Amino acid sequence: MEHILPAYNDPLFSILLIIVIALIIAMMTYAWGIYKEQKEEGNLLKFLDKFESSECSLDTSNMKFEPNMLKPLALLAKAFDNAGEYHKAINIYLYLIKYIDNNQAKRELMEYLANTYFNAGFLERSKNIYLEILRTKPRNIKVLYKLGIVYESMHMYDKAKDTITPLYTLGEDTKSLELFFDFSQLRFSKDIELQDKVNKIIDILNKEPSLYRQSILELLKLDTKKAWELIEPSRLDELIDILWFLPNSQLDLDIILSNEKLHTLYYVKGYIKEPMINSGIFSLDILATAKKSGFEDGELIFSYLCKKCKHNFPVSFTRCPNCMALNSIKVEEEIAKSNTKTDYSIL
Ligand SMILES: [Zn+2]
Repeated sequence: MEHILPAYNDPLFSILLIIVIALIIAMMTYAWGIYKEQKEEGNLLKFLDKFESSECSLDTSNMKFEPNMLKPLALLAKAFDNAGEYHKAINIYLYLIKYIDNNQAKRELMEYLANTYFNAGFLERSKNIYLEILRTKPRNIKVLYKLGIVYESMHMYDKAKDTITPLYTLGEDTKSLELFFDFSQLRFSKDIELQDKVNKIIDILNKEPSLYRQSILELLKLDTKKAWELIEPSRLDELIDILWFLPNSQLDLDIILSNEKLHTLYYVKGYIKEPMINSGIFSLDILATAKKSGFEDGELIFSYLCKKCKHNFPVSFTRCPNCMALNSIKVEEEIAKSNTKTDYSIL
């Protein structure tokens, strides 16, 4: 033995000792990594147990899992999600997350699951899953944005604003999003004086002109006079539906009569008798021409296009219900034959 191992005062002994220590550390790190991963997996399964529920009608209890089932089942779940059959999609995601080994794939599936819960209206569940993903991977930009949207839907704006700092740190341009959260919070705030609220909305609008449509809509409810002062006739196409449905009592005739675009709109609507055909909006000018010739049965109907995902919706939105984009709305008007009196308001 003496001849195999170098003597303790031999320089070779120190080198051998360093190698042995390095080997021990490497082995311990490896073992710790495996232990941590298993613990994480255990936590995850325990966490997901909370979401197993009887509303999942697809029977996966007797389904034997094979790794090659991941892709087709994930696609099937996505198809169910798109078709609005959320309970089936949720059941498949839960099944896959339970049996799949790969942690990265698990996190992706959890993100899909959270999205489906969000679409299905289970905001609390969606929020908890996004938080769980961020607990292990806090630098996930997509999930941070989505968590903000969930908090926004829950009207928890302070929490939504908590996602701004990490997003900003990760290099995202968050100015518009922050002002949008400020605006939404203000909109639903009850313990603020009316005049104070009006001033703050105008202040936010000055900082973020893309909030024009929402701000005018809100101001028309709070301070009609102020709203009319801020309405820019050159941006009539952005507000045409709002102004079209505005009740007679909320009109500012001085402003309307001083502008040909607004004058045309309310001539077609029937609130002003003196004819005018110069709105710059094709369908509105057609209706004004028809009205001047005695055809009174036309009206405008509206639909709302998302400029980002090109989906069309029958009702107005602040965030696109499909792609969740902000300020992507485009109001599209069409001529229709009026049958009944549709003098209702969208305010
Ligand atoms: Zn969209």
